[in-house]
Amino acid sequence: MNQSKPQSPAPAPVSSSLWLKMFIYSSLLFVLAAVLLLLDPWRAQDVLPSPDAGAAVFFYLFSLFTIAAGYTNKSFGYISLDRIGQIANLLVFGPFYGTLINGLASFTFAWFRLYQGVPLRNTINAVLANTGMMTIMSLAGGYSYYYLGGEIPLETLSTSLLIPVIATLLVMQVINESLIAGMSVIRDMNFTKNFSWSATGIELLSGVIGVLVAVMFAQELALFGLFMLVLVLGILVQRQYALIRQHLEALVSERTQELREKSEELERQAAHDHLTGLFNRRYANEYLHKEIARSKRQQRPLSVAMLDIDHFKQINDQHLHETGDKVLQRLAQLLQGNVRESDLVARYGGEEFLLCFPDTELSGACAHCDELRRIVEQENWSSIKPGIKATVSIGVVQRTKNTELPELLHQADTKLYAAKHQGRNRVNC
Ligand code: GH3
Ligand code: MG
Ligand code: MG
Repeated sequence: MNQSKPQSPAPAPVSSSLWLKMFIYSSLLFVLAAVLLLLDPWRAQDVLPSPDAGAAVFFYLFSLFTIAAGYTNKSFGYISLDRIGQIANLLVFGPFYGTLINGLASFTFAWFRLYQGVPLRNTINAVLANTGMMTIMSLAGGYSYYYLGGEIPLETLSTSLLIPVIATLLVMQVINESLIAGMSVIRDMNFTKNFSWSATGIELLSGVIGVLVAVMFAQELALFGLFMLVLVLGILVQRQYALIRQHLEALVSERTQELREKSEELERQAAHDHLTGLFNRRYANEYLHKEIARSKRQQRPLSVAMLDIDHFKQINDQHLHETGDKVLQRLAQLLQGNVRESDLVARYGGEEFLLCFPDTELSGACAHCDELRRIVEQENWSSIKPGIKATVSIGVVQRTKNTELPELLHQADTKLYAAKHQGRNRVNC
């Protein structure tokens, strides 16, 4: 029975207008159920024996147990075993008293939501709807059984009882699904969300177990006791097993997610420089390898620049090493912020940066590098610490035919070295 999901997490708070609609629907169900039960125009109880009080209490408690034994399964939806108790009650006590016990069990258990942290107003709706639905479907199922010639109390299984028993199961199921569909219409017009063939199958199967409970009740007390013991233990064990499995599945997916995040983080770390956040030398080499291959294949130009901070040792010596670090970080930001998205900036060594300009001729790369040099020169470095100045020297090369990575880098280094010799703060093309 989908509407009494005792193990499912508390639903998200509903809006007031939705709550009101649900309240009206639930109240209508409850009132209809109460009227049907009070008037009971069919009056089967007049001809059926009144139930033994002890047996009624026992079956009421057993019904509560079967409701509580339900749980949410990730792939099946809600596994509800309460049909066991409901069917047993109808077959043992007949449509009127059976419904009374079913309704009462539903009513009692619905309040349990308060304990689960469901707000009072939502709990009230659940109490009204659950009790109402249970009463209506129980009356319909019970009277179907009675009028189709079902034996009350059911004592022996005979083929003539097959039709009334199956009719009861189906009538209850259809009414249950319809009333829940009504609720879906009010909630979100989503019928399929609250319907699942597997859940329906489990409920029908529970009904069959309910038939067995009723038959066993007619046997000797010791036999019935043994049967109930096995049944209750079976239910508890399978529920525990399912919950453990669920817990393990959740644990595995949680761990998988953690591992995925860790491996992404490691991947990120493996490609990035810790201090500046730029790509590191390792990544830059891989990247350049690919770019060289692409430039060959597509016969596109590729330019590369090596950039080095001028007299960086002095900055470190005259100020703190940490100040030097801040200069490196600021420079990284300046470079990254002033190249195109398709260009690569990497920290290639201590205070050495590699710039890669795909699809760019030497002249374009040189112009761009001179712009970067100017930006660095004009940067307000003294905001890091008064008196600090930083400039850079850059050596730029364009890949020529058949030039591979080591040679290309060597050429860029040589140009950089020459720029230093020519007086620093310059771009050597
Ligand atoms: P030049 O103009 O010829 O390049 O002179 P320079 O002083 O910049 O060159 P040198 O290679 O002599 O010094 C580089 C300095 O960079 C030395 C080293 O301590 C410093 N350095 C390298 N990595 C880091 C770093 O991560 N943080 C800091 N603060 N300094 C670093
Ligand atoms: Mg230097
Ligand atoms: Mg250097």
